[in-house]
Amino acid sequence: MKACVLRAPAAIETNPLEYADVAAPEPRSGEVLVRVRTCGVCRTDLHVIEAELPPRKSPVIPGHQVVGVIEKFGEGTKRFAVGARVGIAWLHQTDGTCEYCRSGAENLCDNPVFTGYSVDGGYAEYIIAPQDFVYVIPDGFPDEQAAPLLCAGIIGFRSLRLSGIKAGGRLGFYGFGAAAHVAIQVARHWGAEVYASTRDARHQKLALELGAAWAGGTFEATPKKLDAAIVFAPAGEIVPAALRALKKGGVLVLGGIHMSPIPSFSYDLLYQERVIRSVANNTRRDGEDFLRVAAGIPIRTYVQTFPLADANRALNALKNDAIPGAAVLRVSE
Ligand SMILES: [Zn+2]
Ligand SMILES: [Zn+2]
Repeated sequence: MKACVLRAPAAIETNPLEYADVAAPEPRSGEVLVRVRTCGVCRTDLHVIEAELPPRKSPVIPGHQVVGVIEKFGEGTKRFAVGARVGIAWLHQTDGTCEYCRSGAENLCDNPVFTGYSVDGGYAEYIIAPQDFVYVIPDGFPDEQAAPLLCAGIIGFRSLRLSGIKAGGRLGFYGFGAAAHVAIQVARHWGAEVYASTRDARHQKLALELGAAWAGGTFEATPKKLDAAIVFAPAGEIVPAALRALKKGGVLVLGGIHMSPIPSFSYDLLYQERVIRSVANNTRRDGEDFLRVAAGIPIRTYVQTFPLADANRALNALKNDAIPGAAVLRVSE
């Protein structure tokens, strides 16, 4: 099969993904083989490629927002029919036995497996996954529209939940890429007012089109104090600025898997019961709940598609803020 393979981590400017022929995987017991139609491009893929996350598998095929159809099963695998359209996300598998899994927090599992990081992902014509970690994609979404729901969408949704935002509340977004452009639609649906802080003028424009009450520069003061804010950009220097925008008791959620160091700041910014918390992965329940909410609203994703062979180009564009919405690889029809 054709795949984009990372042989060794390197800066994306050096185009390290090799478009190559590799052996297609075979499903084992409990697994499905999925023929990939589309795969979303996520900032986490950049963190994997550039080794901001320590390598777990090498060589590796990145990609964890996979939409495709079931083509084959391993032994004893019966949850889906051949031809069913499904999604595969970042959380590839958990041990199901650690204290976190047993307490309903499988996103914090001690022995997790991640798609496109610790096992091969969806920048390829075929992928395997455990049937229990595969999502049903709601019918209303075309393949390329559905792909960004699987990480940008789900992680944005978990970030919204952890922010505690309610109808009538004011919510800030720092960074307005793939996750934020989906999360704003959920937040607006819930009746929250959204303030978008981002360095890129195209992203500010998209935020306003999607109903933001205000859009401005990353370090510009928001016109009103916020009940909660979510930092999607991987830049630690945003944290003190976002705290400054919060009301007393406000919640700051850090939505990324990787962030540059957070500079020290005066305790005044945190005092008055402000809270900072991170988001790590998601539970399957988050994913299923989000896909139901997304179909009900319905969410519309803004996507720019690239052929599989052009994954390096898509990732370079993402790094340069040149994608309004989300980048998606089209792998097959
Ligand atoms: Zn576990
Ligand atoms: Zn992701």
